[in-house]
Amino acid sequence: MKIKKPSTIRGMNDLLPEVIATWRHLEKIIIKIVESYGFSEIRLPLLERTELFQRSIGADTDIVEKEMYTFKDRNEKSITLRPEATASMARAAITNGLLHNQQQKLWTMGPMFRYEKPQKGRYRQFYQFNIEAMGFSGPDIDAEIIIMCARMWRLLNLKNLRLEINSLGSGDTRKLYRNELITYFTKYKNNLDENSLKRLESNPLRILDSKNPDMRSIISNAPVMLDYLDPESKKDFEVLKKLLDGSGVKYEVNPRLVRGLDYYNKTVFEWITDDLGAQGAVCSGGRYDGLIEKLGGRSTPAIGWAMGIERLVSLYEVDNKRIENLKPYFYLVTDGNPALLKGFELAEEIRNNFPKNAIQMNMGAGSFKSQLKRADKSQAIYAIIIGEEEIENNTIGLKSLRAKGDQVEIHFDNIISEIKCIVE
Ligand code: ATP
Ligand code: MG
Repeated sequence: MKIKKPSTIRGMNDLLPEVIATWRHLEKIIIKIVESYGFSEIRLPLLERTELFQRSIGADTDIVEKEMYTFKDRNEKSITLRPEATASMARAAITNGLLHNQQQKLWTMGPMFRYEKPQKGRYRQFYQFNIEAMGFSGPDIDAEIIIMCARMWRLLNLKNLRLEINSLGSGDTRKLYRNELITYFTKYKNNLDENSLKRLESNPLRILDSKNPDMRSIISNAPVMLDYLDPESKKDFEVLKKLLDGSGVKYEVNPRLVRGLDYYNKTVFEWITDDLGAQGAVCSGGRYDGLIEKLGGRSTPAIGWAMGIERLVSLYEVDNKRIENLKPYFYLVTDGNPALLKGFELAEEIRNNFPKNAIQMNMGAGSFKSQLKRADKSQAIYAIIIGEEEIENNTIGLKSLRAKGDQVEIHFDNIISEIKCIVE
């Protein structure tokens, strides 16, 4: 019986070696930048108790309603593959007592899981880079984490990213605004789509986030949060704008930007590109002053952002060449067991002396001709050749694979010093 070719689960991708160098390049620069702003790495489990996400993200959000990978484990406990990182970060800060009279600046990176409709820029397993600053009430830190993004775009040569900001206010005025929205949308009850109707009572702010074009005109005439801001939120938003102005970071105030999760308040923002079609949000963030207390910790103001790495890589490839993987510098070809033995010894010696230059040894023998073919395919610059004759003469052959010219013979005693000349 023929076995069917196995495939990945829909929306979950293999990341092949040819793209990894670019991923690593971006990750390396981002890590360098966030660490230069004082963020430290934290690594978290991919699985958490389902209730963590229900309680933090909110029951009436797309994520909790229909996108979570939730299972019962062998103990009949409901567990969920993390759909985002903020809830886990807040949980970890509480679990490990990281917030007792302390501020924390943390970053993490890894896969998230959401059962969405897969398409370009939208996957079921996707990767995020996340930062969270806990114990900071802003708006100085709000500005700093946005300015940090602007630095990344510059250093990564990412173009065409624009920043949208908004304030969702907090406390009682948020409730007041919520009631205004309910009153407004109730007037159009007959025109609301099913989702919006459901959200009318439970989470009217989320109606503003609707992607249904039929809802656009009703939404565009809805009351605007910025008109209802409490004095503190209003002041903070003004300071944030001044700090961004002063730092030369351009932005657009988008009063409809609400973000799809329940825990946000005050500052929210999104970096958006038009270069990637419909999936334009590259980095999204906001303040979540109430979340840590809601999860059982002491009341702690906090803010963070999440960046989609696939979208970042796609945007990078619009204006930049894909980064190539490290190629071997030498490819070592041998003939016969004594040569193989010598080859192993020499390869290790070259690795000791020239750790930056990769050397790949031919494995699985083969004729000189077929070994040299492999050497060429490996894109190495030089082939090192050890045959019976070389063993007899205590030499190796060195042949350039990229330039014309004869093979040169080098005595065993001089190998390292001669190689030093060509490598440097
Ligand atoms: P979108 O509006 O595109 O659905 P979102 O508001 O759901 O994005 P967040 O939950 O804020 O996104 O996640 C932060 C970032 O993670 C997004 O800005 C995006 O770059 C990336 N992202 C979110 N969902 C996906 C996905 N399914 N596949 C790939 N990247 C994603
Ligand atoms: Mg989404």
